[in-house]
Amino acid sequence: MAASAAMDGVVAAALRSVLHRVQQAAERSSRAPQQIRVVAVSKTKPVSVLREVYDAGHRCFGENYVQELVEKAPQLPDDIEWHFIGNLQSNKVKPLLAGVPNLAYVETVDDEKIANLLDRAVANIGRKPLKVFVQVNTSGEPSKSGVEPAGCVDLVKHVRSCTNLEFCGLMTIGMPDYTCTPENFKTLSSCRSEVCKALEISEEQCELSMGMSADFELAIEMGSTNVRVGSTIFGAREYPKKQNQ
Ligand SMILES: *Cc1c(COP(=O)(O)O)cnc(C)c1O
Repeated sequence: MAASAAMDGVVAAALRSVLHRVQQAAERSSRAPQQIRVVAVSKTKPVSVLREVYDAGHRCFGENYVQELVEKAPQLPDDIEWHFIGNLQSNKVKPLLAGVPNLAYVETVDDEKIANLLDRAVANIGRKPLKVFVQVNTSGEPSKSGVEPAGCVDLVKHVRSCTNLEFCGLMTIGMPDYTCTPENFKTLSSCRSEVCKALEISEEQCELSMGMSADFELAIEMGSTNVRVGSTIFGAREYPKKQNQ
């Protein structure tokens, strides 16, 4: 059977191992494993390999190049929950929403302009509200991606005023080279405290998207609800992370 063949595959085995480690990290931090979403980050990987992970029962995938996602999504079942996790340029908002009807989340909203464009594009297409995370620059280093921690309350307020967007929480990639330190995780967590206080919402209403292959267990222990795991599931990528979209 196709499903059991897939279960024996290397990638399916790696997925199971990651899910097991997530479960253990959740237990160490006294949380239910179901409270932690694992986004399988499949950038640069062929559709056949995503299919293997899908056949192993996984439904949540992340991509960070618009062009690549728009090409892959129609080749895969539409019950996939896609997360867009890359730097989103204004002129890519429409193609992204038009090309991926089952886009569930954009994790990288880092200014009002992109929030407004997403809000309008959702309205124009007439689809259900799009879930979004506000991306925070927790490294203190100049980088294009992420609002400064001091600006995050205002941006969250703005996102919550967009009727076609559903605010879900805060996201960080850590340092510009994607490595994350415990300090980055702490910073994101204190941003959440500020947001929850200012908006009078509970922490359950403000998720944390942090943690990748190298540090997802630590991230979970520090409060992450959404880990983005690529190479530990799919194997090393063959071309660099940073390329033009
Ligand atoms: C590529 C990527 C990941 C996954 O990185 P791995 O180290 O391969 O797990 C996570 N988040 C973002 C934003 C990415 O671009």
